Amino acid sequence: MIDEKFKALFNHAPEISSFTPGRVNLIGEHVDYNGGRVLPTALELGVSLAMSPRSDWQVRIGSESFEDVAKRELLDEATDHWSDYITGALQLAHAEGFGPNGANIAVTSNLPFGAGLSSSAAITVGVLSAARDLAEANITDTEIAILARRVENDYIGVPCGIMDQMAVAIARPGQALSLDTESLAFDLVDLPKTHHMAVIHSGVVRKLNEGRYKIRTEECDAIKAAAGRDDICQMTNAEFEALIDLPDPIFRRARHCVFEHRRTLLATEALKTGDIAEFGELMNASHISMRDDFEMSVPAVDALVADAQAFGAIGARLTGGGFGGCIVACVENTRLEAWRDQLLAAHPDAYWVA
Ligand code: ADP
Ligand code: MG
Repeated sequence: MIDEKFKALFNHAPEISSFTPGRVNLIGEHVDYNGGRVLPTALELGVSLAMSPRSDWQVRIGSESFEDVAKRELLDEATDHWSDYITGALQLAHAEGFGPNGANIAVTSNLPFGAGLSSSAAITVGVLSAARDLAEANITDTEIAILARRVENDYIGVPCGIMDQMAVAIARPGQALSLDTESLAFDLVDLPKTHHMAVIHSGVVRKLNEGRYKIRTEECDAIKAAAGRDDICQMTNAEFEALIDLPDPIFRRARHCVFEHRRTLLATEALKTGDIAEFGELMNASHISMRDDFEMSVPAVDALVADAQAFGAIGARLTGGGFGGCIVACVENTRLEAWRDQLLAAHPDAYWVA
Protein backbone atom coordinates (compact mmCIF):
# COMPACT_ATOMS: atom_id res chain seq x y z
CA MET A 1 0.00 0.00 0.00
CA ILE A 2 2.71 2.50 0.97
CA ASP A 3 4.91 1.14 -1.84
CA GLU A 4 2.06 1.78 -4.33
CA LYS A 5 1.69 5.31 -3.04
CA PHE A 6 5.43 5.85 -3.45
CA LYS A 7 5.38 4.53 -7.03
CA ALA A 8 2.46 6.75 -7.94
CA LEU A 9 4.38 9.78 -6.69
CA PHE A 10 7.88 9.06 -7.94
CA ASN A 11 7.49 6.55 -10.82
CA HIS A 12 9.89 4.04 -9.28
CA ALA A 13 9.86 1.55 -6.43
CA PRO A 14 11.13 2.60 -2.97
CA GLU A 15 14.28 1.04 -1.56
CA ILE A 16 12.86 0.67 1.91
CA SER A 17 9.50 0.90 3.65
CA SER A 18 8.48 0.70 7.28
CA PHE A 19 5.71 1.15 9.85
CA THR A 20 6.19 3.05 13.14
CA PRO A 21 3.41 3.06 15.75
CA GLY A 22 2.05 6.02 17.66
CA ARG A 23 2.01 5.86 21.43
CA VAL A 24 -0.24 6.66 24.35
CA ASN A 25 1.16 7.36 27.78
CA LEU A 26 -0.65 5.41 30.51
CA ILE A 27 0.84 7.41 33.39
CA GLY A 28 3.87 9.65 34.09
CA GLU A 29 3.22 13.02 32.43
CA HIS A 30 5.76 15.85 32.06
CA VAL A 31 8.33 13.85 34.00
CA ASP A 32 10.43 12.70 31.04
CA TYR A 33 12.55 15.86 31.03
CA ASN A 34 12.79 15.84 34.83
CA GLY A 35 14.45 12.49 35.44
CA GLY A 36 11.24 10.58 36.14
CA ARG A 37 9.69 7.31 35.04
CA VAL A 38 7.04 6.99 32.32
CA LEU A 39 4.78 4.17 31.15
CA PRO A 40 3.70 4.53 27.50
CA THR A 41 2.37 1.80 25.22
CA ALA A 42 2.40 1.54 21.43
CA LEU A 43 -0.83 1.90 19.44
CA GLU A 44 -1.97 -0.23 16.51
CA LEU A 45 -2.23 3.08 14.64
CA GLY A 46 0.89 4.60 13.17
CA VAL A 47 2.85 5.99 10.25
CA SER A 48 3.95 4.05 7.17
CA LEU A 49 6.73 5.46 5.09
CA ALA A 50 8.65 4.47 1.98
CA MET A 51 11.96 5.97 0.98
CA SER A 52 14.64 6.03 -1.71
CA PRO A 53 17.88 7.93 -1.40
CA ARG A 54 18.84 10.76 -3.75
CA SER A 55 22.31 12.17 -4.37
CA ASP A 56 21.38 15.73 -5.38
CA TRP A 57 20.71 17.20 -1.89
CA GLN A 58 17.02 17.42 -2.69
CA VAL A 59 14.16 16.08 -0.58
CA ARG A 60 10.71 15.32 -2.04
CA ILE A 61 7.92 14.28 0.29
CA GLY A 62 4.38 13.25 -0.45
CA SER A 63 2.04 12.64 2.48
CA GLU A 64 -1.56 11.55 2.19
CA SER A 65 -2.34 13.90 5.08
CA PHE A 66 -1.26 16.98 3.11
CA GLU A 67 -2.06 18.09 -0.43
CA ASP A 68 1.20 19.53 -1.64
CA VAL A 69 4.33 17.50 -2.47
CA ALA A 70 7.02 19.17 -0.39
CA LYS A 71 10.16 20.24 -2.28
CA ARG A 72 12.95 20.81 0.20
CA GLU A 73 16.73 20.91 0.20
CA LEU A 74 18.47 18.59 2.64
CA LEU A 75 20.23 21.44 4.42
CA ASP A 76 17.15 23.73 4.64
CA GLU A 77 16.38 25.35 7.95
CA ALA A 78 12.98 24.73 9.54
CA THR A 79 10.22 26.78 7.87
CA ASP A 80 7.20 25.93 10.03
CA HIS A 81 5.96 23.58 7.30
CA TRP A 82 4.67 20.03 7.90
CA SER A 83 7.72 18.66 6.06
CA ASP A 84 10.12 20.07 8.68
CA TYR A 85 10.05 16.90 10.80
CA ILE A 86 11.13 14.70 7.89
CA THR A 87 13.67 17.21 6.53
CA GLY A 88 15.14 17.67 10.01
CA ALA A 89 15.41 13.91 10.56
CA LEU A 90 17.13 13.39 7.19
CA GLN A 91 19.47 16.29 7.88
CA LEU A 92 20.51 14.88 11.25
CA ALA A 93 20.97 11.37 9.81
CA HIS A 94 23.26 12.92 7.22
CA ALA A 95 25.19 14.96 9.80
CA GLU A 96 25.66 11.78 11.86
CA GLY A 97 27.20 10.08 8.84
CA PHE A 98 24.58 7.47 7.98
CA GLY A 99 21.92 9.41 6.05
CA PRO A 100 21.72 9.84 2.26
CA ASN A 101 22.38 13.11 0.38
CA GLY A 102 18.66 13.61 -0.16
CA ALA A 103 15.60 11.38 -0.48
CA ASN A 104 12.21 10.72 -2.00
CA ILE A 105 9.69 9.86 0.71
CA ALA A 106 6.03 8.84 0.74
CA VAL A 107 3.99 8.82 3.94
CA THR A 108 0.60 7.39 4.87
CA SER A 109 -0.78 7.52 8.37
CA ASN A 110 -3.87 6.52 10.31
CA LEU A 111 -2.63 8.36 13.39
CA PRO A 112 -4.26 11.75 14.00
CA PHE A 113 -1.59 14.40 14.41
CA GLY A 114 -1.53 17.06 17.07
CA ALA A 115 -3.57 14.70 19.27
CA GLY A 116 -0.83 13.87 21.77
CA LEU A 117 -0.29 10.44 20.20
CA SER A 118 3.18 11.28 18.93
CA SER A 119 2.76 11.34 15.20
CA SER A 120 5.83 13.58 15.25
CA ALA A 121 7.95 10.94 17.00
CA ALA A 122 6.58 8.22 14.70
CA ILE A 123 7.66 10.33 11.70
CA THR A 124 11.15 11.21 12.95
CA VAL A 125 11.91 7.74 14.35
CA GLY A 126 10.54 6.22 11.11
CA VAL A 127 12.81 8.36 8.91
CA LEU A 128 15.92 7.89 11.06
CA SER A 129 15.38 4.11 11.30
CA ALA A 130 14.84 3.84 7.54
CA ALA A 131 18.07 5.78 6.90
CA ARG A 132 19.92 3.52 9.35
CA ASP A 133 18.56 0.35 7.77
CA LEU A 134 19.36 1.58 4.24
CA ALA A 135 22.95 2.30 5.29
CA GLU A 136 23.10 -0.92 7.36
CA ALA A 137 24.57 1.29 10.09
CA ASN A 138 25.20 -0.17 13.53
CA ILE A 139 22.88 2.10 15.56
CA THR A 140 20.54 0.92 18.31
CA ASP A 141 16.87 1.85 18.67
CA THR A 142 17.76 3.84 21.79
CA GLU A 143 20.31 5.85 19.79
CA ILE A 144 17.67 6.44 17.09
CA ALA A 145 15.28 7.73 19.78
CA ILE A 146 17.94 10.13 21.12
CA LEU A 147 18.52 11.51 17.61
CA ALA A 148 14.76 11.84 16.99
CA ARG A 149 14.43 13.87 20.18
CA ARG A 150 17.22 16.16 18.95
CA VAL A 151 15.21 16.82 15.78
CA GLU A 152 12.26 18.04 17.87
CA ASN A 153 14.38 19.95 20.42
CA ASP A 154 16.94 21.58 18.12
CA TYR A 155 15.40 21.67 14.64
CA ILE A 156 11.68 22.13 15.33
CA GLY A 157 12.14 23.93 18.66
CA VAL A 158 9.81 21.81 20.85
CA PRO A 159 11.50 21.21 24.23
CA CYS A 160 10.09 17.66 24.63
CA GLY A 161 11.60 14.86 26.69
CA ILE A 162 12.67 11.42 25.47
CA MET A 163 9.48 9.44 26.18
CA ASP A 164 7.74 9.64 22.81
CA GLN A 165 10.74 8.67 20.75
CA MET A 166 11.68 5.75 23.04
CA ALA A 167 8.06 4.56 23.10
CA VAL A 168 7.59 4.43 19.34
CA ALA A 169 11.07 3.03 18.72
CA ILE A 170 10.78 0.22 21.29
CA ALA A 171 7.24 -0.51 22.60
CA ARG A 172 4.75 -2.72 20.74
CA PRO A 173 0.96 -2.98 21.18
CA GLY A 174 -0.01 -5.02 24.24
CA GLN A 175 3.12 -4.01 26.12
CA ALA A 176 3.91 -0.99 28.22
CA LEU A 177 7.40 0.47 28.23
CA SER A 178 8.47 1.23 31.78
CA LEU A 179 11.21 3.72 31.03
CA ASP A 180 13.71 5.43 33.31
CA THR A 181 14.13 8.69 31.42
CA GLU A 182 17.41 9.46 33.18
CA SER A 183 19.39 6.28 32.39
CA LEU A 184 17.13 5.13 29.50
CA ALA A 185 17.01 1.69 31.12
CA PHE A 186 13.66 0.05 30.39
CA ASP A 187 11.48 -2.91 31.05
CA LEU A 188 8.57 -4.19 28.89
CA VAL A 189 5.45 -5.04 30.91
CA ASP A 190 2.50 -7.00 29.46
CA LEU A 191 -0.86 -5.22 29.63
CA PRO A 192 -3.81 -7.16 31.09
CA LYS A 193 -5.83 -9.01 28.43
CA THR A 194 -9.03 -8.54 30.44
CA HIS A 195 -8.96 -4.75 30.06
CA HIS A 196 -8.72 -2.20 27.31
CA MET A 197 -6.72 1.02 27.35
CA ALA A 198 -9.17 3.23 25.47
CA VAL A 199 -7.97 6.45 23.84
CA ILE A 200 -10.56 9.14 23.24
CA HIS A 201 -9.94 12.57 21.75
CA SER A 202 -11.59 15.46 23.60
CA GLY A 203 -12.12 17.42 20.40
CA VAL A 204 -9.92 20.21 21.79
CA VAL A 205 -6.93 20.75 19.52
CA ARG A 206 -3.63 21.98 20.87
CA LYS A 207 -0.28 22.75 19.34
CA LEU A 208 2.83 22.09 21.39
CA ASN A 209 4.90 24.95 20.06
CA GLU A 210 2.04 27.29 20.95
CA GLY A 211 4.05 27.93 24.10
CA ARG A 212 2.23 26.52 27.11
CA TYR A 213 4.30 23.34 27.03
CA LYS A 214 7.41 25.50 26.94
CA ILE A 215 6.25 27.54 29.93
CA ARG A 216 5.94 24.30 31.92
CA THR A 217 9.47 23.27 30.96
CA GLU A 218 10.71 26.70 32.07
CA GLU A 219 8.90 26.36 35.38
CA CYS A 220 10.66 23.01 35.82
CA ASP A 221 13.96 24.76 35.07
CA ALA A 222 13.21 27.06 38.02
CA ILE A 223 12.70 23.99 40.25
CA LYS A 224 15.96 22.51 38.98
CA ALA A 225 17.82 25.72 39.79
CA ALA A 226 16.36 25.84 43.32
CA ALA A 227 17.03 22.13 43.96
CA GLY A 228 20.48 22.23 42.39
CA ARG A 229 19.78 19.11 40.33
CA ASP A 230 18.15 18.15 37.03
CA ASP A 231 16.46 14.92 38.16
CA ILE A 232 13.90 16.71 40.32
CA CYS A 233 11.48 13.75 40.15
CA GLN A 234 13.94 11.75 42.27
CA MET A 235 13.87 14.13 45.25
CA THR A 236 13.25 12.60 48.68
CA ASN A 237 10.46 13.99 50.89
CA ALA A 238 13.00 16.05 52.83
CA GLU A 239 14.56 17.48 49.66
CA PHE A 240 11.14 18.30 48.26
CA GLU A 241 9.88 19.87 51.49
CA ALA A 242 12.97 22.10 51.56
CA LEU A 243 11.49 23.82 48.47
CA ILE A 244 8.39 24.98 50.37
CA ASP A 245 9.35 28.65 49.97
CA LEU A 246 9.28 28.46 46.18
CA PRO A 247 6.59 30.85 44.89
CA ASP A 248 3.29 29.56 43.62
CA PRO A 249 2.82 27.87 41.14
CA ILE A 250 6.41 26.56 41.08
CA PHE A 251 6.02 24.55 44.29
CA ARG A 252 2.87 22.88 42.92
CA ARG A 253 4.72 22.02 39.70
CA ALA A 254 7.43 20.38 41.83
CA ARG A 255 4.80 18.42 43.76
CA HIS A 256 3.40 17.08 40.50
CA CYS A 257 6.86 16.00 39.28
CA VAL A 258 7.82 14.19 42.49
CA PHE A 259 4.51 12.38 43.02
CA GLU A 260 3.74 11.65 39.36
CA HIS A 261 7.07 9.83 39.18
CA ARG A 262 6.23 7.83 42.31
CA ARG A 263 2.74 7.02 41.01
CA THR A 264 4.31 5.69 37.83
CA LEU A 265 6.60 3.37 39.80
CA LEU A 266 3.58 2.11 41.75
CA ALA A 267 1.50 1.73 38.58
CA THR A 268 4.23 -0.35 36.96
CA GLU A 269 4.24 -2.65 40.01
CA ALA A 270 0.43 -2.82 39.95
CA LEU A 271 0.50 -3.93 36.31
CA LYS A 272 3.12 -6.56 37.06
CA THR A 273 1.10 -7.99 39.96
CA GLY A 274 -2.23 -7.72 38.12
CA ASP A 275 -3.70 -5.20 40.57
CA ILE A 276 -5.83 -3.32 38.05
CA ALA A 277 -7.91 -1.54 40.70
CA GLU A 278 -4.74 0.03 42.11
CA PHE A 279 -3.60 0.89 38.59
CA GLY A 280 -6.91 2.71 37.99
CA GLU A 281 -6.68 4.63 41.29
CA LEU A 282 -3.22 5.85 40.28
CA MET A 283 -4.53 7.01 36.88
CA ASN A 284 -7.28 8.99 38.63
CA ALA A 285 -4.80 10.54 41.08
CA SER A 286 -2.54 11.44 38.16
CA HIS A 287 -5.36 13.36 36.52
CA ILE A 288 -6.02 15.38 39.68
CA SER A 289 -2.34 16.28 39.88
CA MET A 290 -2.24 17.33 36.21
CA ARG A 291 -5.40 19.37 36.69
CA ASP A 292 -4.59 21.12 39.98
CA ASP A 293 -0.80 21.09 40.40
CA PHE A 294 0.60 21.06 36.89
CA GLU A 295 -2.43 22.91 35.46
CA MET A 296 -2.14 21.29 32.06
CA SER A 297 -5.79 20.31 31.59
CA VAL A 298 -8.76 22.22 30.17
CA PRO A 299 -12.43 22.09 31.28
CA ALA A 300 -13.60 19.93 28.35
CA VAL A 301 -10.96 17.32 29.18
CA ASP A 302 -11.80 17.41 32.91
CA ALA A 303 -15.47 16.80 32.09
CA LEU A 304 -14.60 13.91 29.77
CA VAL A 305 -12.36 12.31 32.41
CA ALA A 306 -15.02 12.73 35.11
CA ASP A 307 -17.66 11.02 32.97
CA ALA A 308 -15.24 8.30 31.85
CA GLN A 309 -14.79 7.48 35.54
CA ALA A 310 -18.50 7.86 36.38
CA PHE A 311 -19.56 5.57 33.52
CA GLY A 312 -17.42 2.73 34.83
CA ALA A 313 -13.76 3.07 33.80
CA ILE A 314 -11.35 1.58 36.35
CA GLY A 315 -9.27 4.73 35.86
CA ALA A 316 -9.09 7.67 33.45
CA ARG A 317 -6.78 10.62 32.87
CA LEU A 318 -5.57 13.20 30.40
CA THR A 319 -2.65 11.88 28.36
CA GLY A 320 0.10 13.62 26.39
CA GLY A 321 1.44 17.14 26.55
CA GLY A 322 -1.86 18.58 27.76
CA PHE A 323 -4.12 21.60 27.08
CA GLY A 324 -6.49 19.43 25.06
CA GLY A 325 -5.91 16.28 23.06
CA CYS A 326 -6.71 12.79 24.31
CA ILE A 327 -7.67 10.97 27.46
CA VAL A 328 -6.77 7.35 28.23
CA ALA A 329 -9.07 5.11 30.27
CA CYS A 330 -8.72 1.59 31.57
CA VAL A 331 -11.99 -0.26 30.97
CA GLU A 332 -13.01 -3.90 31.37
CA ASN A 333 -13.42 -5.56 27.95
CA THR A 334 -16.96 -6.68 28.78
CA ARG A 335 -18.10 -3.11 29.51
CA LEU A 336 -16.16 -1.36 26.79
CA GLU A 337 -18.85 -0.93 24.16
CA ALA A 338 -21.59 0.33 26.49
CA TRP A 339 -19.10 2.61 28.24
CA ARG A 340 -17.91 4.11 24.96
CA ASP A 341 -21.44 4.70 23.64
CA GLN A 342 -22.52 6.42 26.83
CA LEU A 343 -19.40 8.60 26.98
CA LEU A 344 -19.52 9.71 23.33
CA ALA A 345 -23.26 10.45 23.59
CA ALA A 346 -22.56 12.76 26.54
CA HIS A 347 -19.62 14.48 24.75
CA PRO A 348 -20.52 15.22 21.11
CA ASP A 349 -17.14 16.82 20.34
CA ALA A 350 -15.19 13.80 21.60
CA TYR A 351 -14.33 10.90 19.33
CA TRP A 352 -12.94 7.39 19.57
CA VAL A 353 -9.30 7.02 18.52
CA ALA A 354 -8.07 3.59 19.56
P1 ADP B 1 1.73 14.89 17.82
O1 ADP B 1 1.09 15.00 19.16
O2 ADP B 1 0.87 14.13 16.86
O3 ADP B 1 3.12 14.39 17.88
P2 ADP B 1 3.00 17.31 16.93
O4 ADP B 1 2.47 18.69 16.82
O5 ADP B 1 4.13 17.04 17.84
O6 ADP B 1 1.75 16.38 17.26
O7 ADP B 1 3.46 16.81 15.49
C1 ADP B 1 2.62 16.91 14.36
C2 ADP B 1 3.46 17.18 13.13
O8 ADP B 1 4.15 15.97 12.71
C3 ADP B 1 2.65 17.59 11.93
O9 ADP B 1 2.40 18.99 11.95
C4 ADP B 1 3.57 17.20 10.78
O10 ADP B 1 4.58 18.16 10.62
C5 ADP B 1 4.21 15.92 11.30
N1 ADP B 1 3.40 14.81 10.82
C6 ADP B 1 2.60 14.02 11.58
N2 ADP B 1 1.95 13.11 10.83
C7 ADP B 1 2.33 13.33 9.55
C8 ADP B 1 2.01 12.74 8.30
N3 ADP B 1 1.14 11.74 8.20
N4 ADP B 1 2.61 13.23 7.19
C9 ADP B 1 3.49 14.24 7.29
N5 ADP B 1 3.83 14.85 8.41
C10 ADP B 1 3.27 14.41 9.55
MG1 MG C 1 4.69 15.35 18.95
